[in-house]
Amino acid sequence: MTTIVILALLALAAALGWFARRERRRRLDAEDTHRRERAEQEGRHATALRERSLHLETLFDRMIEGLIVVDADGRIRLANRAAGRLFDFMAPAAGRTLLEAVRHHEVAAVAARLKGEREVLGHEIRLEGPAPRILEVNAVSLPESAGALLVFHDLTKLRQLELMRQDFVANVSHELRTPLSLIKGAAETLLDGGKDDAATLEKFLGIIDRHASRLGLLIEDLLLLSALDSGRVELHVRELALRDTVQEVLEDFALTAKEKGVVLDNEVPAVLRARADDGRLRQVLSNLVDNAIKYGRERGRVQIGASSLGAGWLQVSVRDDGPGIPAEARERVFERFFRVDKARARTQGGTGLGLAIVKNLVLAHGGDVRVESAEARGTTFYFKLPAA
Ligand code: ADP
Repeated sequence: MTTIVILALLALAAALGWFARRERRRRLDAEDTHRRERAEQEGRHATALRERSLHLETLFDRMIEGLIVVDADGRIRLANRAAGRLFDFMAPAAGRTLLEAVRHHEVAAVAARLKGEREVLGHEIRLEGPAPRILEVNAVSLPESAGALLVFHDLTKLRQLELMRQDFVANVSHELRTPLSLIKGAAETLLDGGKDDAATLEKFLGIIDRHASRLGLLIEDLLLLSALDSGRVELHVRELALRDTVQEVLEDFALTAKEKGVVLDNEVPAVLRARADDGRLRQVLSNLVDNAIKYGRERGRVQIGASSLGAGWLQVSVRDDGPGIPAEARERVFERFFRVDKARARTQGGTGLGLAIVKNLVLAHGGDVRVESAEARGTTFYFKLPAA
């Protein structure tokens, strides 16, 4: 009996031991699984964080705006590539103070002014140097006094465009006002009694007619330039015999040239064929030939030549033997309303837009235009056109 009880107790103890071991193993397995799952979760979290930070870094570096983050001590924590380009960092910016890296006290002052501010502080700064720049800086404090974020936007191009637009409006107004006041003056003279004298009447009607035509030309040129600027000029490109087009343009100028004793030479080889809009090409040639006669020498010579450049391009040249264009003005003659000799150019009746139109029309054909000139040795304009 006792043996049975002992055996039963031993069996019970063995069973309890087995159960305890199984429970421990189960617990350990569960802990293992839990640990593994946590490790995996942390791993996934870390990867996601790394990916996000990489994504943010790429995003910062691709931004056009310069971006700098400074910590509470005013040291740079992060600066993107655009900021590096704007301020030409000599060494990595991280860890340096704003003033050390940016070398611009106004930028440092904006960041210093931020302390305690909740609003975004905006400021415009000018970076001096060989190529001065205008930057807009917007700065904001980071939450919990963690420092500040500064965003830099390059306004240089925008300001240049604004200046150009203002200049253009001033020039247009001036160009319109001059003929308009001459027309008004002539009309007043006639109304004040001038009309009663046949000679005065004819003279002042002539003035009105000339300046009204000038106004018409100016408005036409302005509209064409505006259409070219916004890509609204449709080219009807076709294959054409260059020499014939040049010949027809020269015939239009035969009388003007004769009055000044200028000889016009068509030296374009008959074999050359271009791919161009006939009307627009005539406009380019007319502007260049008109200038060559106007600004060329009395009893001089104007030569139109052309040659093949290969690779599908032709080069056309319009050469005169006039006084030439001074070196400092050569780059500028294609600008709107630029004239070397303002007074003289206006009396010649030009609008100051002829070469700007030439340039834009040639560009619309995919070509380009340039000028070569030597003082007292004449001027040659060259432009490229696609060959047929
Ligand atoms: P404009 O109506 O004044 O002729 P353009 O745009 O055609 O305007 O020309 C701009 C300026 O370039 C002219 O005012 C003139 O000073 C100069 N220019 C153009 N062509 C010649 C040339 N062949 N020889 C000398 N100067 C020229």
